[in-house]
Amino acid sequence: MLDLKIHGGTVVTPSGVGQFDIGIQDEKIVLVAARNSIIDESQISIDATGKYVLPGGIEPHTHIATRVSEDWAGRPGVMTQSPEAASRAAAHGGVTTYIDFAGGMEGTEEGDQSDKSIMTRLDARRSVFSGHSYTDFAFHFTLAGEVPTRTIEEIGEAVQSGVSSFKIFTTFGSKVPYGHLWAIFEAVGNSGGIMAVHAEDDDMVKYMEAKLIREGRDQGYNLHLAHNNISEDISFRKIIRLSEHTETGIYFVHTTAKEGAYAIADARNKQLPVYGEALHNYLHFTHDHYREPEGTAIHTYPAIKHASDRDGLQEALINGTLSTTATDEYTTYKDIKLSGNTIETVCGGHNGIETRLPVVYTKFVSTGLISIEHFVDITSTNAAKILGMYPQKGAIATGSDADIVLFDPDMNKTITLDELHADSDYSIWEGFECQGYPVTTILRGKVIVDNGELKGSPTDGNWLARKVAPSVLANPEC
Ligand SMILES: [Zn+2]
Repeated sequence: MLDLKIHGGTVVTPSGVGQFDIGIQDEKIVLVAARNSIIDESQISIDATGKYVLPGGIEPHTHIATRVSEDWAGRPGVMTQSPEAASRAAAHGGVTTYIDFAGGMEGTEEGDQSDKSIMTRLDARRSVFSGHSYTDFAFHFTLAGEVPTRTIEEIGEAVQSGVSSFKIFTTFGSKVPYGHLWAIFEAVGNSGGIMAVHAEDDDMVKYMEAKLIREGRDQGYNLHLAHNNISEDISFRKIIRLSEHTETGIYFVHTTAKEGAYAIADARNKQLPVYGEALHNYLHFTHDHYREPEGTAIHTYPAIKHASDRDGLQEALINGTLSTTATDEYTTYKDIKLSGNTIETVCGGHNGIETRLPVVYTKFVSTGLISIEHFVDITSTNAAKILGMYPQKGAIATGSDADIVLFDPDMNKTITLDELHADSDYSIWEGFECQGYPVTTILRGKVIVDNGELKGSPTDGNWLARKVAPSVLANPEC
């Protein structure tokens, strides 16, 4: 007997869209069959008539339970929201897996561990999330500063244990020097991992920060002049050259400028395994919004740029240059978010994990710019492929985890704070009119949100071991 049957919906599978019924047993999809052909007396049956049945959303970029720097928060001891709160919001937003970070320089709940091994630090980070997450989760491992040789030598072991992506910054305090990056890329490439890169040209950012301060123009609304287009162009292309020399796959987190998208397109035209992510706020806002009252609430580093960049990112998502959407989830309360208002002190990030699917659907699918299959690619499947979870995650197919979202394309809903589920007191999407909304979320066969009502438990989520397919690292596969 099946544990669960979903019938009557329009299902997006890897081989196309159709009217299928789905059978689920022991957390897995065991049947994808023609409508009304599953005779089994299932324990639970869900009627998905009028709904899209999609693979659960995958959020590839979150900062949960992370210490907020005192420069941003204005006071010590502030953390971003807990795994319970963030994963609760995720579940309500149709997201069944998120990838956060372990390692790095930023203090986390477990304190400074920068002298410990990668595996020790992973265990420490896992213990913060285990038993506290409504959805599944994984970690990119962040390498920061002048990374010691012994740490670089541990990369192979970490990849073997299921950590397939390594995050680096080319700016900020955690900037990794290029010589170290060369060694890291080689180790990650040789081990079958992929680099997740925050690329900005540190010299140009620092020069512009000093110039803006000198000229009395260091207000938060000028963030895009410090974290600017040329910096993204040059840094993306340097990283791509390094990836080409070391034969290492690259996942650019938050592509923010049309120049970044062009650099990715050029690399992909050369068949290099280079992938890019767009954040949903960058697909909607421009730096002009920074000037509005409380306008810097929309800010995520690097910086939201010009209308031509917003349009360029949209086009890059539509034409397949960019592979994923994400949020850089970084949830605080508004007093923290707005505490600093200079180019050096505006707090990054916002509570976005719940709003990505409906915002992206509204902007791209309900307007006819992309198909429902392409929507599934940029909200789930591509992240699963690039970051090593496919086909366990990101697919409605026999043998895949039964992570499923029922999405109602006819539900019109205006986003209001009252109906969101993060631990926060603002939303940058307040008043945004969604045409289409996720209504029911299923994690490994268990209904965790049923028609907007939370049914899951913070003990439901598991840590995920990942492994990137060799084909993803050989060519731009998605
Ligand atoms: Zn981030």
